[in-house]
Amino acid sequence: MANKWCLRAFAILGLLVLSAGLAAGQVGQTQITKWQYGKSAAVSLTYDDGSINQFRVAVPIMDTFGFPATFFIITGDIPGSRYHGTFIGRPTNAIVQETANTPTNKDNFLERASAIGFLGYPEAIDYHTRAGEVFDEGKDFDKAYQLMDEAYAKVRQGMFKPAHINAAVHRERITWEELIALANRGYEFASHTVTHPRLAALDDANLVYELEKSRQDILDRLGFKHTFSVECPYGTENPRAVQSALQRYKVARNHMPDPFVDDLDRWNAMDPAVSKKEYVRWQRGSLTKTPMTLMKSWVDTIASRDNIWLVLVFHGVNGKGWEPRTDDELKEYFAYIKAKEDRLWIATFQDVTKYIRERMRSEVRSYKDGETILVLLRDDLTDPSYDLPLTLKTNVASAWQTVEVHQGERVKHVEVVHQNGQSYVLYQAIPNAEAVMIRPVQP
Ligand SMILES: [Zn+2]
Repeated sequence: MANKWCLRAFAILGLLVLSAGLAAGQVGQTQITKWQYGKSAAVSLTYDDGSINQFRVAVPIMDTFGFPATFFIITGDIPGSRYHGTFIGRPTNAIVQETANTPTNKDNFLERASAIGFLGYPEAIDYHTRAGEVFDEGKDFDKAYQLMDEAYAKVRQGMFKPAHINAAVHRERITWEELIALANRGYEFASHTVTHPRLAALDDANLVYELEKSRQDILDRLGFKHTFSVECPYGTENPRAVQSALQRYKVARNHMPDPFVDDLDRWNAMDPAVSKKEYVRWQRGSLTKTPMTLMKSWVDTIASRDNIWLVLVFHGVNGKGWEPRTDDELKEYFAYIKAKEDRLWIATFQDVTKYIRERMRSEVRSYKDGETILVLLRDDLTDPSYDLPLTLKTNVASAWQTVEVHQGERVKHVEVVHQNGQSYVLYQAIPNAEAVMIRPVQP
């Protein structure tokens, strides 16, 4: 593709007197707008854990508004997945026996915390979660070790009830077939690991299993496009978990290291308006008791700025899942966002990530030859995932009313905007493809 681009570009450039680009305000001068379609901000609706009413209730509501969304799914839960929760390591009875004589310490904690949830006792999973939380906080490791000792003592003493064989049957689950249908309609799916563990408390083999096997099932069922994004459970910032996740996925919702982004997570109280960076990724969680007025104020804040990406995090819907919201609340909130859509780009988590990375890594050059404006857009991203068209804004002559925009085989008529003494067109172009040609359409 790069070679083809070069040949085409040089063939066209050969006909022109090459200028050193055009200055601001000149006819032909072109910029990549900060957000898609020249909007003022971006909004991504994200849902965690794949609880059933996200699909049964929230999806039909979003359909009525034409909103896309991103679902972070726990793949081991889905019927027909190849990979389910399991412990990767030595036989667990050897680990259990060892706990009788060796107290938990820094050398054996990760193995024990990795295994405890897979011994066949649902109540033991709670110990994994609690000890993992304490460990992840990184302050009181002894407390985490104590919890592990307590859990294994209960295992050895037979104090946990074994899993009920049919326990899973009563819980309604989404199927891969349904997810495929939703993916085909533009919804994004993303990984939330195989079993939703505390990744910081897993040893390397189990950490890799949770991230890699979840990706594998998503790849096999939904395709490469849906292997772009991940959310490490509990939004962990644990460096080992984050690094392992970013080796396997292009972006993590829990951590974005890009230097041009201020990454404010759900618990960060910083006012996004004070950021000096090119972009702010502002995550806000909607819990059951989060006031609607507060949620609406997030939308007002971003609509009044030009650099904020609001990443909304939802969990349960209509009583199913953690911290649920009701269908009426979702309708009211989405209607509020819809009313500001002229300023907001509502897009999937991966599309916004792609847009800002492609834009920050792109160069745009434009040339004028009589009535034709030629625009070259290229970025230095070699990863084929980055395939999103970018919005360009090109100044045109004030006498022009409509232009024809060509890029390769694609042709589009675009109306000229005349505003504040400027005349320009907004259109989309694919980076690293053919040069864009803009010509006035004769009335
Ligand atoms: Zn979760």
